[in-house]
Amino acid sequence: MLETLKEEVVRIAKKAQNTGLCKHKAGNVSCIDRESGLICITPSGVDRDYLTVDQVCVIDRDLHVLEGGKPSSETLMHIACYDAREDINAIVHTHSAMASAFACLNRPIPSFIFELFVFHLDNGMIPVAPYALPGTTELAKNVAETVKRSDLVLMERHGTIAVGKDLSEAFENADYIEELARIYYTILTLNNGQDPKLFTPEDFRKWKYPSQIKNEG
Ligand SMILES: [Zn+2]
Repeated sequence: MLETLKEEVVRIAKKAQNTGLCKHKAGNVSCIDRESGLICITPSGVDRDYLTVDQVCVIDRDLHVLEGGKPSSETLMHIACYDAREDINAIVHTHSAMASAFACLNRPIPSFIFELFVFHLDNGMIPVAPYALPGTTELAKNVAETVKRSDLVLMERHGTIAVGKDLSEAFENADYIEELARIYYTILTLNNGQDPKLFTPEDFRKWKYPSQIKNEG
């Protein structure tokens, strides 16, 4: 069942491993079929190099495993995010290095660069979801509350979570969190630990795609 979605989970899970966003079996990937409400998620403890479509778990909202192995221990967090954001269909959770460093310091990534304008963010910054023990309903609640405000989120003392309309978008968002964390770290290093000039929430509200461009294709 849901073969195409399961294939996407495998593709993105391998990509996350191959690009270094997910290492040592950490992190997890899921997507939801909104029609049936079923969720496809990576299994727990499987090296992505060897992950097969048959191992991808299909679970219902009552946490019954319908197909695949043992689902990720962070499944509750994924379900809570799908409940919190009906406009999203995919989630990528990573422990990517540079972003996790900021997450461990409980330090949001501020609105320091124009690129942030294109994302759905909390007033242009990447917020931090408060810490709770991994796998718990408390962590699921903390993360879902923060995901309501932003597609790109740091998880205190843990890692990152990125959401999107599909797995390609969620992966790109997860990749961007790491990239932005790297740029921000470089700025702080070059600038004696000080923030650069930041954009204001008003700057973000003002930005629009140029109306002069007429898309007639
Ligand atoms: Zn994790």
